[in-house]
Amino acid sequence: MPRLQQDQQVTTSRAQELLLEFLREHDAACPVCGYNVRALTRPICPECRHDLVLTVGAAQPPIGWLLAAVAPGFFSGIAALFMLVPIIGRAIFGDGVWMPLAIIVDLFGWCSGLFAILLATKRRRFLAQRRARQRWLALTIWLIHVAALGVFILMAVLFF
Ligand SMILES: [Zn+2]
Repeated sequence: MPRLQQDQQVTTSRAQELLLEFLREHDAACPVCGYNVRALTRPICPECRHDLVLTVGAAQPPIGWLLAAVAPGFFSGIAALFMLVPIIGRAIFGDGVWMPLAIIVDLFGWCSGLFAILLATKRRRFLAQRRARQRWLALTIWLIHVAALGVFILMAVLFF
């Protein structure tokens, strides 16, 4: 028997041993049918008859900073959508005035919302960053939104 094949067979049976040893004391669902395969004596699901193998899975990364980073953008995006109603309502159906400050605020909201969608779709890249960097990015995004809100309020107070 070629050496590689021999090694694989030894590895497989060792992995099966470890799998059965693990299942002796732990509950686990069959990945195919969901049947609890605790205390098996052979690496085969008794319910659906699929072979079971020992595999390595990745732990679920913590997503707290990702949620913190997308939250202001999603909020701004939704707010921007609703702000279109008074802007367009007044300009087209009202007295025909385009409110410049409202349009600037609304544009910011759209950009922020699009950025949050982009961040959500590229979340793997965000989660691959170190936790300290994730926190820094999330806090920067919050800071930009808080600063923008402050500027908008200031402009509203100064010009109206
Ligand atoms: Zn099964």
